[in-house]
Amino acid sequence: MPELPEVETVRRGLAPVMEGARFVKVVANRGDLRWPLPKDFARRLTGQTVTGLGRRAKYLLADLSSGDVLLMHLGMSGSFRVEGGQGEATHGGHYHERGKDAAHDHVVFRMSSGATIRFNDPRRFGSMKLVPRAKLDREPLLRALGPEPLGNAFSAAMLAKACQGKNTSLKAALSDQKIVAGLGNIYVCEALNRALLSPRRKASTIASRTGAPNERAGRLVEAIKATLKDAIEAGGSSLRDHRRIDGSLGNFQHNFRVYDREGEPCPTPGCNGTIRRIVQTGRSTFYCPVCQK
Ligand SMILES: [Zn+2]
Repeated sequence: MPELPEVETVRRGLAPVMEGARFVKVVANRGDLRWPLPKDFARRLTGQTVTGLGRRAKYLLADLSSGDVLLMHLGMSGSFRVEGGQGEATHGGHYHERGKDAAHDHVVFRMSSGATIRFNDPRRFGSMKLVPRAKLDREPLLRALGPEPLGNAFSAAMLAKACQGKNTSLKAALSDQKIVAGLGNIYVCEALNRALLSPRRKASTIASRTGAPNERAGRLVEAIKATLKDAIEAGGSSLRDHRRIDGSLGNFQHNFRVYDREGEPCPTPGCNGTIRRIVQTGRSTFYCPVCQK
């Protein structure tokens, strides 16, 4: 499932062919993604110019000249393929081979930039929705989301306050989208290894009883930001490589520190621990029991 860095990479791949361009033709081959597309989906998009392409957590937000915002989510297996315009590429589809089958091209945008953008999603957990910009604050999909981890609002003080008195594990707290938006299983494992904190540690232990951040909270916030920045940078370079060679985006998994590396040596300098896999709230956690305390 794509996490924040993958979605940001997709945004950067789509921006050159979408921003400033008009939807010339919109084809919705299947109206039933995770939720049905709005009935007037094609009509509300056609002729509109994309004034900006942003991101909130794992949602892409295309601002339209009409005042609507097109919300797009990749779900489990969604990807975008760009043909024509400024280079052809497949954006997304990191953990599943992108279905080449055109039967899974559920939505197709022909843009005035000359690009054709195909949204392919074999498992159909992805979604698209049109929301008036003025009502975006009240949009249920976005309203409950915590702060952006790369934004200034996400600080040691904020995270400690959110974890104050929490008996759940740090892993569970960081995976909670209300505490911090856009982190999933992979980058939570990666950030905890970088911060030398155990995923099993109680969330409350990064805060004092009054909710003030301790040294662990500071280390954790720094590790989360650094982990995401590195992953976005790696995505950016895969995007550039992609312009030269064909193949789908996202060799991020080769750079993981602990994720999916059970039995391998811990990457922490000077640590001779071995990565272990445990199951927490039904998901695999990878960590080093030696240096992550
Ligand atoms: Zn270690």
